[in-house]
Amino acid sequence: MKRLDIAIAGCGVAGLSVATLLRQMGANVVIFDKLETPQPLGSGIILQPVGLHVLDLIGAGTAIRELGAPIMRLFGKAAPNQNVVLDVRYADRGRNAPCGLGVHRGALFQVLYEAALASGAEIESGREVVDVRDRRLVFADGSVGAAFDLIVDALGMRSPLAGAPPKPLTFGALWASLDWTGPFDGAALEQRYRQARKMVGVMPIGRLKGKDRKQAAFFWSLKHTDRAAWASTPIEAWKDEVRALWPETEPLLAQIHTHDDLVFATYAHRTLADPVARDCVHVGDSWHCTSPQLGQGANMALLDALALARALETQSNLDAALGEYARLRLWHIRLYQTASWMFTPAYQSDSAAFAALRDWIMSPLSRTPPAPAVLAGLVAGEIGSPLRAMRRAR
Ligand SMILES: Cc1cc2nc3c(=O)[nH]c(=O)nc-3n(C[C@H](O)[C@H](O)[C@H](O)COP(=O)(O)OP(=O)(O)OC[C@H]3O[C@@H](n4cnc5c(N)ncnc54)[C@H](O)[C@@H]3O)c2cc1C
Repeated sequence: MKRLDIAIAGCGVAGLSVATLLRQMGANVVIFDKLETPQPLGSGIILQPVGLHVLDLIGAGTAIRELGAPIMRLFGKAAPNQNVVLDVRYADRGRNAPCGLGVHRGALFQVLYEAALASGAEIESGREVVDVRDRRLVFADGSVGAAFDLIVDALGMRSPLAGAPPKPLTFGALWASLDWTGPFDGAALEQRYRQARKMVGVMPIGRLKGKDRKQAAFFWSLKHTDRAAWASTPIEAWKDEVRALWPETEPLLAQIHTHDDLVFATYAHRTLADPVARDCVHVGDSWHCTSPQLGQGANMALLDALALARALETQSNLDAALGEYARLRLWHIRLYQTASWMFTPAYQSDSAAFAALRDWIMSPLSRTPPAPAVLAGLVAGEIGSPLRAMRRAR
């Protein structure tokens, strides 16, 4: 194929990783983002082994491992009896199986941004995209950009290029990045639940580049409809509720002084039937978004980026490459979107039945072989072998 000119709308995980991988195969790449200074919003995420593999190919794996915190286990107990209702160990896939990595979003953004710049990608900030027409981006100021061979939509779950925005799920969560302290397991994501209505979680996320202090992601499940009431209630009343569920969070709560120290994150669940549209191709959350219960979104975005680059590298024309991209990712995405849709109500919903199912059936079942290995494989992003399909495509 000739040297392609590619526009990437969105400077998040998907956009930056696509940009670097496409530059590596010789394409000319320009990224457009609405922010004047592109930066991530939110707290921390878990990078799974499949996502870390893509980061290695991008050349950012070593840098992110230096900043992040290895996660060996996901662990949760339910009130009032402190029954263990979540216990997934990455090592259940095999003794030397790679684990997850808790990272600050800022750290991930930094290493991906530096990799994209080093690869020679151009970045245009302060450019809000509203539409795409004849392989040209249309911006909020009314201007129409230059024509490209391919437009990649990496604008996230509210992408204006992906149709109407998805309806938010009933539950979102409050998030904060705090200094790491307290009696928590430094290599685990830990959660405490009351049924599926209340959830508090703590996860190590390592440090930001240039900083020594290790951080924790702290999160509290909250319904949209309860958000206004939460914001108008004294912060101490909310802290009492958290303490009642997990008293050991006290040293973390001490770092939260006002409601503004927490950011509310909205979740939504949607999968477009086809990532290839008439004027663009979707990657990351603009194609498929879901709640973060399985911790896969960023990893899915990284896998999409690799699949698109591999397809463009190996196919003889653009149409064939886009078809191959969809083929490489479709089943893995369907599998994980379904799994996420099924698991979410067990951890975030008003349903006492889902919570009971989780506590009485899922919990003992998940300790019975081969379930521990299957669950660990699911969390690691490996079910469906997404990387094997891409290796075959080389
Ligand atoms: C609270 C929370 C916790 C999560 N935890 C995990 C986890 O543990 N593991 C995991 O793998 N995933 C997790 N995810 C999911 C993960 O964050 C997303 O799947 C991932 O960030 C998607 O990347 P993206 O590049 O597709 O979109 P985004 O990261 O949303 O990036 C979109 C980019 O487009 C830009 N943009 C948006 N609209 C416009 C516009 N109109 N014009 C120009 N630019 C625009 C934005 O500024 C941004 O830079 C979590 C998500 C949330 C909300």
